[in-house]
Amino acid sequence: MSARSPLHGARLRLWLACALGCTGPKLEPTSLLEPPGSADELRLPPGAECGPERVPALPVLDALPDGASPPAEETCEDAPAAESGRHFALRPLGVGYPNVTGPVNDLPPGVAYLTFDDGPSEWTHTFLDILESKGVRATFFVTAKQLKGEAGLDGTYTDDSGRVIVYRDVLRRIVDSGHQLANHTVNHVDLAHVTRGQLTSEIEENELLVNRALLRAGGQPEVLTLFRPPYGSPWFTGIAGMPGPQASERIASHALNIMWNVTSGDAQDWAQGESYSRTSSPLPSPGAPDLESKRRRVLNDVLNSRPTSTGAGMIVLMHDTHSATRDVLPQLIDGLREQGYGFETIEHYVQWRWGRPSLDMTPGPGLYQSCVPERDWGCEALGDAPLGTDRSSEVCGRFWVAYHALGGAAALGAPLGAPERSAETGIYAQPFEHATIELHPENPPPCHIVAVPR
Ligand SMILES: [Zn+2]
Repeated sequence: MSARSPLHGARLRLWLACALGCTGPKLEPTSLLEPPGSADELRLPPGAECGPERVPALPVLDALPDGASPPAEETCEDAPAAESGRHFALRPLGVGYPNVTGPVNDLPPGVAYLTFDDGPSEWTHTFLDILESKGVRATFFVTAKQLKGEAGLDGTYTDDSGRVIVYRDVLRRIVDSGHQLANHTVNHVDLAHVTRGQLTSEIEENELLVNRALLRAGGQPEVLTLFRPPYGSPWFTGIAGMPGPQASERIASHALNIMWNVTSGDAQDWAQGESYSRTSSPLPSPGAPDLESKRRRVLNDVLNSRPTSTGAGMIVLMHDTHSATRDVLPQLIDGLREQGYGFETIEHYVQWRWGRPSLDMTPGPGLYQSCVPERDWGCEALGDAPLGTDRSSEVCGRFWVAYHALGGAAALGAPLGAPERSAETGIYAQPFEHATIELHPENPPPCHIVAVPR
């Protein structure tokens, strides 16, 4: 390593283009090894002029080139059992996959992870009222547009008391109440029927719009490190219309994939009188049950689900778009408590399983290598200490991607400490000898990863 960092003395922030796989202008890592022409002028890739005040439209992402070879099938001894031929053998790092037994799907006993998909909706604030009154934290997999129309999270509705509520304020309340916000695509697409480019765009645009909404609501940005594919597709649907690893690869490069092991069944129909919105007409499904029957069914499906017979952990799939679910939520929480369950967000699970925050797990070394032990996914030890013993000498998750794309040790030197999140700005930062890498979740790619030379 040279004594003087090629980044040394540069004052401008260096924007890392395409670290997460877009096809926009690419800043080659080797170009970073050359000293900048002048102290104040690092070469910005064309079109990648980013600024905190500017939130440009999401770039249109075409299908990615096929240069990279597809991920290998899982063949290691400790790999989970192969799924049926109709499912993809390769799974992104996550939990709750169907037809899989063994440690990969284990959950801590006695813990119920309540998850709510498809919101925020016109019912969400009433879900939040209930969770608050019960002292329960949950995880919300949100979509920025589905059911909210083109206005998306800037859209409004009027509540029972005549108050006009903006969806983005509901979103902020989710975060401020200690719940976890997670990604569910922007338009609720079936991942088995989109191109890789569309899939990437669906994930990234949702993260962008969610963060833009949080900022406009006066909140802090959030990195959406958890993902749930709409319909659980392709793993739950078994749709084989998509070439093998496409969905896996795209999801894995953004977030942990969180499925479920208990479903409330609330989304399988719209009961008579039920609607996703207080202002829309009811949407009864053909042969739909009456509302009371559906309430009883939802409650029963959760309280008598298979894990409850042994007190095993559960990730419960529910939807804050269904008023029937809202109506039984207090009883559902009480019923699970009576069976000995406590409630946590998915972040608790991530800590339980990997001993690290989800931000450190998405993505990292071994991302596409099937034989890396899962405990080693996400981090690389750069000091003398073995992995997991000295976090200040490790580079993990998205920091790992940024670190190596920027030239690794040759350009940045060794880490000087573990990543930290600023409570004030919401920015995640990890210091290295020659630069600090910052994650700006409020910025769209490529402006969300920044190296600030020291
Ligand atoms: Zn959904």
